[in-house]
Amino acid sequence: MRDDLKTLLELQELDLKIKAHEEEKAGIRRSLEELNEKIKAEEETLARLREEGKKETVQIKERELEAEEKRIQIDKYEKQLFQIKNNREYQALLDEIRGLKADIENIEDAALEVMEELEANRAGLKAEEERLSRDREKLRAREEEAVREIARIDAGIERLSSERQTLIPGVGQELFGKYCRIRDHKPGRALVPVVSQVCQGCDMRLTAQVNNDLYKEDCVLYCENCGRLIYLGKPPLSPPPAAE
Ligand SMILES: [Zn+2]
Repeated sequence: MRDDLKTLLELQELDLKIKAHEEEKAGIRRSLEELNEKIKAEEETLARLREEGKKETVQIKERELEAEEKRIQIDKYEKQLFQIKNNREYQALLDEIRGLKADIENIEDAALEVMEELEANRAGLKAEEERLSRDREKLRAREEEAVREIARIDAGIERLSSERQTLIPGVGQELFGKYCRIRDHKPGRALVPVVSQVCQGCDMRLTAQVNNDLYKEDCVLYCENCGRLIYLGKPPLSPPPAAE
């Protein structure tokens, strides 16, 4: 095999390692972002629960005031009862008082319902506050860990990059340029072997012409199908004869 090809293959392996390191870093950043999003959603839930709690407290106060007004009215009517001589008027006032008492009962029932809601809301609020504080703590710890992890990965990338740098002169400008263009646009390897006439980048069979050229000239060509750089790989060992 040509020396420049051998060197480019080595360089390619370093590039793949560097890429894997970059992906690892992106994964760490993504997981921090996800936790941040979760915390944001929890903060919003908490704000909403607090707002609901405030509204419910106001509603309870309003109901209490309403009931109190009706009690004052009842007091007033009860005092008036003593002054009434007319039986019909007396009955009418008694009906009024009964109506007010029924109103108070309804108001108190409604207030009780809101109080129950408020209580449930408070329990939810407490659970949400605890969750939020746990997640904030988790995020803080993960951020510290991420700083250490990323420093470790960056050190690895730096090592690989300087090793890679020493290989570039051995590849030759033209071949290196072709390799870089494909590497930036294709997933996986940019330079792949052809084994048994099949491109190992896209798994497609090459034409006889391309295959002959690879054989004759020990050269690097483009795969007609996927556009990757191809070279002649070692043919696989012939399979054992099938059992009759
Ligand atoms: Zn191909």
